[in-house]
Amino acid sequence: MKNYDFIIVGSGFAGSIMAERFANVLNKKVLIIEQRDHIAGNMFDYYDEAGVLIHKYGPHLFRTNEDFVWDYMSQFTEWHPYQHKVVAEIDTHLVPVPFNLTSLEVLMPEKASEIKEILLSEFGMDKKVPVSVLRKHQNPMISELGSFIFEKIYLNYTTKQWGEKPENLDFETITARVPVHVSYDDRYFQEKYQFLPKEGYTQMFKKMLSNPNIEVRLSVKANEVLNLDTDSNKIFFKGEEFTGTVIYSGAIDEMLGYAFGELPYRSLRFEVETHDKEYFQPTGTVNYPNDHDYTRISEYKHMMAQKPSKTSVMVEYPQEYKRLVPGQDIPYYPIPKDENTIAYDKYRSIADKFSNLYLIGRLAEYKYYDMNNIIMHALKTFNEEFANKN
Ligand code: UDP
Repeated sequence: MKNYDFIIVGSGFAGSIMAERFANVLNKKVLIIEQRDHIAGNMFDYYDEAGVLIHKYGPHLFRTNEDFVWDYMSQFTEWHPYQHKVVAEIDTHLVPVPFNLTSLEVLMPEKASEIKEILLSEFGMDKKVPVSVLRKHQNPMISELGSFIFEKIYLNYTTKQWGEKPENLDFETITARVPVHVSYDDRYFQEKYQFLPKEGYTQMFKKMLSNPNIEVRLSVKANEVLNLDTDSNKIFFKGEEFTGTVIYSGAIDEMLGYAFGELPYRSLRFEVETHDKEYFQPTGTVNYPNDHDYTRISEYKHMMAQKPSKTSVMVEYPQEYKRLVPGQDIPYYPIPKDENTIAYDKYRSIADKFSNLYLIGRLAEYKYYDMNNIIMHALKTFNEEFANKN
């Protein structure tokens, strides 16, 4: 075995940032084990036959308010500015999502000006308010609006997306991501920096991993080469004890042999269609809360500077996760629910006994992280746990 200082499982943001820091800042030797045949995790993108840059695992929109995140990522790419816009098809209208004052005026034209005044005096302009706060509000006009938005925008979309009714999920956490916006600002995000890597995410990840101290092995399943021995709390790599540090960003139930059963995940199926027209739809994404089996259609041409003559769209179908069924075996989302957190914590308490094991990422931490959060979290972990200690 070569003298690796670090073994990293997974080459998404968590794994690649840690690898980059270990190699470039600490000058350490890093092995990345990646089960797919490509790097970049769910950020992987490629040009299709129409010349459209497709995010293979669904649209990934980079945004951050943090200068240090922006500065860090800017070492690895130039940027293309892109402010994501989403509309939802509600009844016969396309209205901005997050639901905002324009959505209000389109869907409730008669009451809109009265409700707007109440919203402004209660919350103020440009404020974000979770739908659950509106629904519980003491002012009946606001609580009725909350119920209306819940029914039209969240209820059926959430049920379709997660395969469960909102009341069975940690609905407040999930929908806090998309709060109602008392504003005419129709952007999906309001962060200071909203950009996409100019040459795509895959190129950006290639650059992050370009240090010769980083070796990437593709198409290798971690549990076939790494063994977490729960009797000795030692880690073995290909049968030999590994005394360096392991950064694990995969699914923790898999790594620990499903000792406490399988953790539930939600999966997705994507269909890419190319249309011989300039544009398919008015915005980057159109959500379909109340009709169809799919939740949303994204049109990548809106997102990038390059404009090929045809357009390609991606239709997103939520589906049950089944780890042994090809096509359904990608765990895209941990399912935010108390009982799942309790089940995860059992695995976590076993993993925490390994002094040279770090769990980081959406799967390893069973947390619905966004890219910007995971970037921050990885950089913070590096700074706090490794920067001055190796
Ligand atoms: N959501 C919804 N209706 C929408 C958009 C979002 O009900 O039109 C809810 C839904 O539960 C979804 C969650 O808000 O899973 C988070 O949406 P987001 O767009 O952040 O999802 P992601 O892009 O992470 O799949």
